[in-house]
Amino acid sequence: MSAPDFDLFVIGGGSGGVRAARIAAGYGAKVAIAECDRFGGTCVIRGCVPKKLFVYASRFSDEFEDARGFGWTTGEVRFDWATLLANKDREIARLEQIYEGNLKAKGVTTLATRARLDGPGAVRIADGRRITARTILIATGGRASRYGDIPGAANIVTSNEIFELKELPKRIVVCGGGYIAVEFASIFAGLGVDTTLMHRRDKVLRGFDEDLRDGLMEALAARGIRLVMNEALVGVAECPGGFNLALHTGETLETDLVLSAIGREPATFDLGLETAGVKTGARGEIIVDSFSETTVSGVYAVGDVTDRVNLTPVAIREGHAFADTVFGNKPTQVDHSLVATAVFTTPELATVGLSEAAAREAGYEIDLYKSRFRPLKNTVSGRNERMLMKLVVDRATDRVLGCHVLGPDAAEIVQTAAIALQLAARKADFDATVALHPSVAEELVTMREKWVPA
Ligand code: FAD
Ligand code: NDP
Repeated sequence: MSAPDFDLFVIGGGSGGVRAARIAAGYGAKVAIAECDRFGGTCVIRGCVPKKLFVYASRFSDEFEDARGFGWTTGEVRFDWATLLANKDREIARLEQIYEGNLKAKGVTTLATRARLDGPGAVRIADGRRITARTILIATGGRASRYGDIPGAANIVTSNEIFELKELPKRIVVCGGGYIAVEFASIFAGLGVDTTLMHRRDKVLRGFDEDLRDGLMEALAARGIRLVMNEALVGVAECPGGFNLALHTGETLETDLVLSAIGREPATFDLGLETAGVKTGARGEIIVDSFSETTVSGVYAVGDVTDRVNLTPVAIREGHAFADTVFGNKPTQVDHSLVATAVFTTPELATVGLSEAAAREAGYEIDLYKSRFRPLKNTVSGRNERMLMKLVVDRATDRVLGCHVLGPDAAEIVQTAAIALQLAARKADFDATVALHPSVAEELVTMREKWVPA
């Protein structure tokens, strides 16, 4: 039998696939990677990066307002959507080139094509060619779920289209209560758009600590975002100047744009999985073991397509661990238990470890430390928003199980606190740490009193 064309063939040039390809090539493997859209994947092209640029854009309105209390006269300020879009596109194109350039620099063969499995040890690309490889990695990510079955569903946009809108709407209704819904509700509100957030439950961000959920909803409402909870969209009809939305309760809403952010699903369609014998789970996710190997020997999967923890740094870590295991002779498993995460709303929130509810559910006897305070900056700016910090501590061992922050720079603060939790820090270690003053983060090491419910 002739030697395979490649040692590794990667399907999908996003966060996980690119990292795996580069690291495997660094170990001397002959690697090819197929990408059917743009190198960089969701995170770079239509996810984390352009989203964070939009978040920055949306926060200038706060800065202009807050500046007045510090003596600045700001005069008339105007926002130009076209400028933001053009600058965002330029940055994304630059990053895309870097991603592809880094692959080529490592000697990886890049193929601008769709690919699918074609029996064991082979893939078929769009021009019909069959390419063989010793190992195949599926890193095809996820795609936005859509309202399939309601009248007028074709009028609804997802996070894909939102990055390309020709014009900024005057009014928007955002459907969903997860990361994307609350982030985009904040972005549009910050840009001056009349914003409604509609969600099927009574609170957003299921799974996050209750104090963060409550604090965020209070802050979003105080910022003028209309929160329509326990409600569902049942139809979208065009009307003069926009859309008329029919809701489950019989209410109606008029708007210029409807954004659905009702989750994402693994991109496993048309991959030839069944024929190859690769098993998928209830949501279509590829089932893998702790080394990211699928049910077929030699076929691996990483990132969102496996629906473990759907975040960029996790996809990257899984891709790297796969390459270390298979090509670096360093068997590596990824620990998904202490992944820090942030929601880039305004105010933003971030969290690492267990929520209060999750800790109790896991059987821990816990102590809570909570602080809700007005940051120094707000005392002069006049902004009424409060910061929230919360530690969940295991009473038996004094170990900090969870750290939760709502307020400015929450992501930056929690990334650092995550190191302490990774090192199994105790509350006594937090207490022994000298505060850095004046900062908001110092509150994490100065909370001495256990919180007792009123
Ligand atoms: P992807 O990055 O999705 O890459 C998969 C690639 O495979 C795509 O480029 C796709 O075109 C390609 N592909 C698919 N099928 C084929 C095929 N058959 N042949 C060839 N190519 C194929 N995460 C964070 O950590 N922080 C954030 O702030 C954040 N913000 C987000 C904001 C939005 C709006 C969205 C949608 C996601 C966000 N995420 C964020 C999640 C993050 O983007 C994903 O977790 C991450 O991109 C997953 O990486 P991946 O490699 O698994 O897949
Ligand atoms: P999420 O899973 O975070 O949230 C989906 C939301 O939609 C939930 O509130 C869910 O409600 C609701 N929902 C689900 N199905 C329906 C339906 N049929 N009708 C109405 N509502 C529905 O998904 P997102 O799309 O917001 O984001 C996808 C993933 O991408 C995130 O989970 C995260 O992993 C990643 N991401 C990360 C970001 C970050 O790190 N900052 C930013 C953006 C995305 P319920 O709670 O009832 O299930």
